[in-house]
Amino acid sequence: MSQSSIIHLEGVTKQFSRNASPAVDAVTLTLQQGDLLGLLGPSGCGKTTLLRLVAGFERRLSGTIEIAEKRVAGSGNWVPPERRDVGMVFQDYALFPHLSVAKNVAFGLRDTSKKFSNELRKRVKEALALVRLEGLEDRYPHELSGGQQQRVSLARALAPRPSLILLDEPLSNLDVQVRLRLRQELRDILKAAVTSAIFVTHDQEEALSISDYVAVMWKGQIEQFGTPEEIYTEPASRFVAEFVTQANFLPARRSGEVWETEVGDFHLNHGAANSDEAELMIRQEDLLLIPDDNASVVIRDCQFLG
Ligand code: ADP
Ligand code: MG
Repeated sequence: MSQSSIIHLEGVTKQFSRNASPAVDAVTLTLQQGDLLGLLGPSGCGKTTLLRLVAGFERRLSGTIEIAEKRVAGSGNWVPPERRDVGMVFQDYALFPHLSVAKNVAFGLRDTSKKFSNELRKRVKEALALVRLEGLEDRYPHELSGGQQQRVSLARALAPRPSLILLDEPLSNLDVQVRLRLRQELRDILKAAVTSAIFVTHDQEEALSISDYVAVMWKGQIEQFGTPEEIYTEPASRFVAEFVTQANFLPARRSGEVWETEVGDFHLNHGAANSDEAELMIRQEDLLLIPDDNASVVIRDCQFLG
């Protein structure tokens, strides 16, 4: 397998106005060909802005952007969006309501003429097969469910066979059932299309479950870049631990060999060695509750989640 990079960002910064803090702040990251990157962070942290910078919808940035090892922005270079070989999928599908499914997909191939050439027809068919929408060529967007509309939008982005697909919260507008199914399929579809992708989401489960790599973003910066497993097992900061993995923190005090907390004592052989007070990260799956009539623990609240 080739190890060339599909995307390389170096110190990319975007500030919308002089008195606002940068929406994207000195972001440096590299993604290899064929990989799927989940860009994860809370609302307003700069995910969309970063995606738009890569797509070429935002100008006046500092730093450099390379796509497939070609400089597209920075140090005096500028390649316009239509020549970046990038496909885009938006949260709200952004389909043309007056065009059929086939014509919407063909639009990605820059051809909306009435007459479909055989080649064009073939490419549209291929793209629709990839997203499992065969047979719906002649429908109009309003005759489709939200999930189907998003598949059309994905087919439109895939049809020109771009080297990189950018998806901005593509599942956020869908009902939970549809969202879960399409989430599963999305990875398969992108892998089958042999494309690289950056997938923006504010949903940690979504990012962890479909990505090869996850970049956790906060206040315009990348807090951590790693595989989903690395992000989960070794969060680089408290923000990552809390936002991404919903970890709990307990105040702890060292007493000899153990760290004492409200819920019990822990033997730990690493971390916080130069202090007698610390906070311990603990996850729900690490806890096992056993009834004990003599324990001085009160359950104050309880929620049933199935
Ligand atoms: P996210 O997609 O993570 O929710 P955005 O990239 O949309 O975040 O926004 C990041 C920050 O940049 C926000 O503070 C937002 O208000 C600001 N911002 C985004 N677009 C513009 C714009 N066109 N003009 C001014 N500020 C903007
Ligand atoms: Mg956004």
